[in-house]
Amino acid sequence: MSRMMKEGEQMDAEIADVVIVGAGPTGLMLASELRLRGVSVVVLERLTEPPGSAKALGLGGRALDTLDQRGLLAPFSAGLPELDIARHAHFGGILLGPRMAGRLRFLPLRQARLEQLLEAHARALGAEIRRGYEVTGLAQDEAGVTVYGPSPLRARYLVGCDGGHSAVRKLAGIGFPGTEPTALLRLGEVRLPAATAQQLDGGRLRLPFGFLVALDAGYVRITTKEDYPPGFDRTAPMTLAELQDSVQRTLGISLPMSEPRWLSRYTDASRQAERYRAGRVFLAGDAAHIHLPAGGPGINTGMQDAMNLGWKLAATLAGWAPDGLLDTYHSERHPAGRRVLMSTRAQAVLLGAGEPVAALRELFGELLQDDATLHRIGDLIQGFDNRYDMPGQPAHPLLGLPAPPLTVETAAGARRLAELLRPGRAVLITTQPELAAGWRDRLDVVTAQTTEPLWPLLVRPDGHVASVGNPDPRPALATWLGTPRAHEPQVALDQIS
Ligand SMILES: Cc1cc2nc3c(=O)[nH]c(=O)nc-3n(C[C@H](O)[C@H](O)[C@H](O)COP(=O)(O)OP(=O)(O)OC[C@H]3O[C@@H](n4cnc5c(N)ncnc54)[C@H](O)[C@@H]3O)c2cc1C
Repeated sequence: MSRMMKEGEQMDAEIADVVIVGAGPTGLMLASELRLRGVSVVVLERLTEPPGSAKALGLGGRALDTLDQRGLLAPFSAGLPELDIARHAHFGGILLGPRMAGRLRFLPLRQARLEQLLEAHARALGAEIRRGYEVTGLAQDEAGVTVYGPSPLRARYLVGCDGGHSAVRKLAGIGFPGTEPTALLRLGEVRLPAATAQQLDGGRLRLPFGFLVALDAGYVRITTKEDYPPGFDRTAPMTLAELQDSVQRTLGISLPMSEPRWLSRYTDASRQAERYRAGRVFLAGDAAHIHLPAGGPGINTGMQDAMNLGWKLAATLAGWAPDGLLDTYHSERHPAGRRVLMSTRAQAVLLGAGEPVAALRELFGELLQDDATLHRIGDLIQGFDNRYDMPGQPAHPLLGLPAPPLTVETAAGARRLAELLRPGRAVLITTQPELAAGWRDRLDVVTAQTTEPLWPLLVRPDGHVASVGNPDPRPALATWLGTPRAHEPQVALDQIS
C-alpha cells in the first residue's frame, strides 16, 4: 500500500540517487545507462536467483542497434547462429518473405541469457543489484522516495521496471487502461520424441491454434491458443496435463511430451500506463505497457524506454537538464508504447480464426505486395518509426528518428556513429566544432573531414537525431543539453558559413 511519511518518523538514509525495481531487461539496461554517467543505482529484485528459463527467444530491430551503441552487440552475439529471419518473420501470421531480407534483424539470444549478460554488464559498471527484496510500499516527498520492503530504503528517484503486474505502478496510483484478455495461451518447453518433432516440419510449424519452435538440447516450445475461459483462475499452477489437454482440444492430437522445464500461460490483454511519471516515480518496460508478444517487440520497447529515461535522469541529477527534460520521457515514450499496442492488437485480430479474418489476412497480404507498405510494417515491428518532436528544427526525413547507421571520416580515420555513441553522451558531427564550445562537458564533438548535407548532425545520447543539416546547431544543443557554459567563447550566428 502506498503510504505517507508520518510526522516525526525517521527519514531513512539515501542509499542511491536512483532505485530501480526489477532486474529484468529494462531495469538492468537502465541501471547501466545511469552508471555510464556516474549516477549511483540500486536495483531491487524480488527473485533470489536469476530465472533459468524466461519468456523471449530473442530480440531484434532497434534493440540490436541500441546494444551496438553501447558496445554490447558483438559480445552478446558471440557464438549465436545467424538466422534467416526474413523466412520466418510475419505480421499477424502473414509471412513478410524474402523481400525483407537484409531489412529485418533478429538475435536468437534467449531472455535468461540476455539478463545474465546485462546483469554482469551493469555490475561491472558499478550498479548494486539486491536480490530477495520485494517492494511492497512507497512514499514520495519533495526530496525523494522511500521504498518499503524487507527494510526501508530511500533514493531521489524511483523507476518501476517490475513487469506487467507492477507493484510500483499500483503504489504510485497510475491507471492501466486497456483491453481484457480474449485469448489464453499456454506454453511448455518440453521434450518430444525426435520423430514427432521431425514430423512437425523439422521442428518449426505454425499451427492454426498454436505453434511450435525447436530449442536447444532436444527441447521444443509448444504454445496453444484458445478463447479465454470466463472466470478462469490464472493463479492455479500450470501443469503438463493442462498443456496436453489444450493440445488435444486445439490440434486434435495427443503429443507425447515429457520433461517440462518451463510451463506458463499468457494472454492477449493489452494495456498501457496512463502516465509514465508520477512526481519522482517513473515506469518503464512491461510495467508501462503489456500486449501480446506478437513479433516480439517487448524487450526492444523496454530497452528504448531505458535509453530515453537514463540520460534524462542523469542530466537532472547532474544539474544541467533544461526545464521540462524529464517530462519528455512521457511525451516521447507514451506514443511509442501506444504504437506497439496498436501493432500487436492488429496482429491479434489477424491471428484469429474464421472467414472474416481470413478475408482480412488476404487483404493485408495484397497490401504487403507493395514495397512501401512492406517496409513501413518492417519499421513498425522493429521500432524504427518512433519519431520524437524536435522543437524549432527545420523538417528533415531523419529528424527525430533513430539515427541510421553512418560512418564519419575523422582525422583519426573512419568511425561508425554507433561507436561514437558508446560513451553515452550526445554526439555532434560537424565541420565547425567551435560552435559547440559551451557544451563540451556534455557533448562529444566529432570534426568531420568531408562536407555532407547531413552535417551538422546532432544525435542525442539515446541515438535519436535532434538536428540535421541545420547550419546553426546551437538552439538544438540548448534544447537538449541546457545552458552553455558561459566562460567559453561563443561564435556569433553571422560568423557561420
Ligand atoms: C511467452 C512470451 C514470449 C515472449 N517473447 C518475446 C520475444 O521473443 N522478444 C521480445 O522482445 N519479447 C518477448 N516477450 C516479452 C518480454 O519477455 C517482455 O517484454 C520483457 O520481459 C519485459 O522486460 P521488463 O524488464 O520490462 O519486465 P520483466 O522481464 O517482467 O522483469 C520484471 C522484474 O521485476 C521483478 N519484480 C516484479 N515485482 C517486483 C517487486 N514488487 N519487487 C521487486 N522486484 C519485482 C520480477 O521478478 C522481474 O525480474 C515475450 C513474452 C512472453 C510472455
